[in-house]
Amino acid sequence: MPEQLSDELIHLRDTCEAFALTELSPASETSGDAVSAKIREASKQAGLYRMTQPGGSDVFPTGQLALCVARETLASFNPKHLDQVFGPSPGVLAEVPEPLASSHLRPLLEGEKRGSFGFTEPDDAPPTRGVIEGDSVIVSGQKSYVTGGADADFINTLVNIENLGPSLIVIDTHLPGMHLEKKFGSLDGSHHAAFRFDQVRVPKAHIIGEAGSGLPRAMRQIGDVRLLFAAQACGYMLWVLKLLNDHLQVPDRQGIPRGGKDVVRWHYANLRIKAYAARSMLYRTARLSDTGENTVNEGMACKVFATETVGEIVDSAIQLVGGNALVDEHPLAQLYRRVRGWRLAEGASDILRLNIGRGILDLGKGRI
Ligand SMILES: Cc1cc2nc3c(=O)[nH]c(=O)nc-3n(C[C@H](O)[C@H](O)[C@H](O)COP(=O)(O)OP(=O)(O)OC[C@H]3O[C@@H](n4cnc5c(N)ncnc54)[C@H](O)[C@@H]3O)c2cc1C
Repeated sequence: MPEQLSDELIHLRDTCEAFALTELSPASETSGDAVSAKIREASKQAGLYRMTQPGGSDVFPTGQLALCVARETLASFNPKHLDQVFGPSPGVLAEVPEPLASSHLRPLLEGEKRGSFGFTEPDDAPPTRGVIEGDSVIVSGQKSYVTGGADADFINTLVNIENLGPSLIVIDTHLPGMHLEKKFGSLDGSHHAAFRFDQVRVPKAHIIGEAGSGLPRAMRQIGDVRLLFAAQACGYMLWVLKLLNDHLQVPDRQGIPRGGKDVVRWHYANLRIKAYAARSMLYRTARLSDTGENTVNEGMACKVFATETVGEIVDSAIQLVGGNALVDEHPLAQLYRRVRGWRLAEGASDILRLNIGRGILDLGKGRI
């Protein structure tokens, strides 16, 4: 297998397995604030919660490899409450100075404020723009797909500031001129909102980092998230393969084990090959990233391959299990819905492929 983990990381993996069995699996039929709070508390006790936060866990190693091990292992149980295990990460607010450190970063990390990310815009609208006026930036424009936006206290928003360029700005959702235009859900069950910014006056001190540095900052944040998507996708692959393993042992109507048929074996082995390839890419990239190397191309490749592969594996598993797997409550039907959006969110597969091609052909960059 591609993991080849140190003793420390094996301990992390074992802890995640135990956590999934004792805390997450028993909660799979329940939901609500009390359940979420109980999981968060147990995660803090287990040393997992702070792995995604500055300073990290005082029990487990920090870094991309450790995060990938934890996320993949937990996802391999296909748990319902995976999002509650890790504390909010700083995202683009990492290392912001005052006043944002006290007003937004700390409350975000403590769970007192909710943040969201505003990047995507409607096709038929001009880019969201800002003009500096004294100590303020006046922002106008639209963001069309802000996950968690309706419940968010602020949106880290990409704004093209006149003469300075694309910048990330923390915009509080309650400010005058902020209009929540639409709330909507997507196939995976998550919730989003569309916003219009109508001459919103934001303190200049809410610009994250240097004005004009928004795109590379946003890309760095998206790069980290891409690897974690890939890790979660790999965990789901392991879960589906285990489900198929069990299913293929069971005899069919003729009394022959389902896995005894050549065509079924062929498909099953093909899925295992792809999962092996996706996991090998993931672990190699996480290790490389932890050495400080720029892994932007490897991260894009992992995200494209893992999210497409998990889609294919879930889809093929549904085909092998049959119509029961499409009943709404069946975990394969639920997983099918959950993973589809990943081929668009945090960079559409087609666009990431073009980026990799451009890096190599036009810029002479990238090793893959
Ligand atoms: C579950 C989910 C959560 C999301 N959360 C957020 C969020 O929190 N914040 C946020 O800002 N956005 C969010 N998004 C939006 C997401 O970032 C966009 O869907 C994604 O970037 C693709 O943009 P688009 O939907 O505008 O599609 P488009 O950019 O229009 O792309 C659609 C298709 O057109 C083709 N295409 C587009 N551009 C090119 C090109 N240059 N060259 C070749 N082909 C091209 C590709 O086939 C592409 O798949 C989320 C999306 C999903 C599904």
